[in-house]
Amino acid sequence: MPIITRSAAAVEGEDWQQILAQAFRRPQELLEYLNLPLSEMPERLQACREFSMLVPRTYAALMQSGDAADPLLLQVLPQATENEHKPGYITDPLAEKDTNIQPGIIHKYRGRVLLLATSGCAVNCRYCFRRHFAYGENRIGRKQWAEALSYVAADTSISEVILSGGDPLLLQDDALQELVMLTEAIPHVRRLRIHSRLPVVIPQRLTPALQSLLSNSRLQVSMVLHINHPTELSDALRQPLQALRQNGITLLNQAVLLRKVNDNLGILSDLSERLFEFGVLPYYLHLLDPVRGAHHFDLSEQEAVLLYRQLLAELPGYLVPRLVREEAGKANKSPINLDR
Ligand SMILES: *Cc1c(COP(=O)(O)O)cnc(C)c1O
Ligand code: SF4
Repeated sequence: MPIITRSAAAVEGEDWQQILAQAFRRPQELLEYLNLPLSEMPERLQACREFSMLVPRTYAALMQSGDAADPLLLQVLPQATENEHKPGYITDPLAEKDTNIQPGIIHKYRGRVLLLATSGCAVNCRYCFRRHFAYGENRIGRKQWAEALSYVAADTSISEVILSGGDPLLLQDDALQELVMLTEAIPHVRRLRIHSRLPVVIPQRLTPALQSLLSNSRLQVSMVLHINHPTELSDALRQPLQALRQNGITLLNQAVLLRKVNDNLGILSDLSERLFEFGVLPYYLHLLDPVRGAHHFDLSEQEAVLLYRQLLAELPGYLVPRLVREEAGKANKSPINLDR
């Protein structure tokens, strides 16, 4: 495409794909950007070999310069502790390999299926259970969508299709459009859900084209964001989320409870209140999946329950997310027993 057709905004880096292409991929660059000492570099690079670093500059811009304990930085900076392998923290904690019925689809819960629309993400979160997923070998293309959707078409009990991944919003708008149209063509599917963290790290992803694609669908559309800390709700996100909501799209949030990131009452209640201010309802608060290399983020169930009881006492019920854990072989995400 000739350069002359690009808008001025895109040239200035307003285009989400361009922002993604310029993301930090080396710990040294991110540390320098934040004016932090270049400590533990060999260990950080070793951690990158297990799970690469990926941090869009729009996300790094929300971090506090000079603060090595910044809660956003801790989520994405490779650390020496990742290289310690603790018992019980494994490479496939959700046994996803077993529910991966066919390429591109996970049918684990009644009435809804996960469609793995892409394999990559726009940010690599160090605690992610997908950190050991062999992405290169699991590239999901349009051919697999057709196969996955014929599975959905053949099972009339499925009323909701959940686009997941990786991050489904990494697809370009025209590819998403195609996927939505294929889904709309299945009469018994009534709802479409998108699970994405991309708008949180690059708000520019919520393009007008995406807005209209989602609001013109015959399906009831919801979007589940993944926001762990109130600082992640940046001003740039406010207007596009408002527009989605005005177009009838339900906005929900899932967070992960993470040590040193959001494991206190003040942060969790601020998060809920700020989410509501942005038109998003808290949905789930997940306990960490016990994935190898992420043990330092984990809280014991007892610590989590103590904190959660405080949250229940602090906020109106609709601002309290459900405390859950994902377990292999269960019919739903497991609520945590609060009486223990
Ligand atoms: C989380 C999840 C869903 C959706 O569950 P809800 O409780 O409806 O949000 C569906 N399938 C899988 C495999 C999941 O992990
Ligand atoms: S965006 Fe979600 S799927 Fe991707 S690395 Fe982060 S937590 Fe994992």
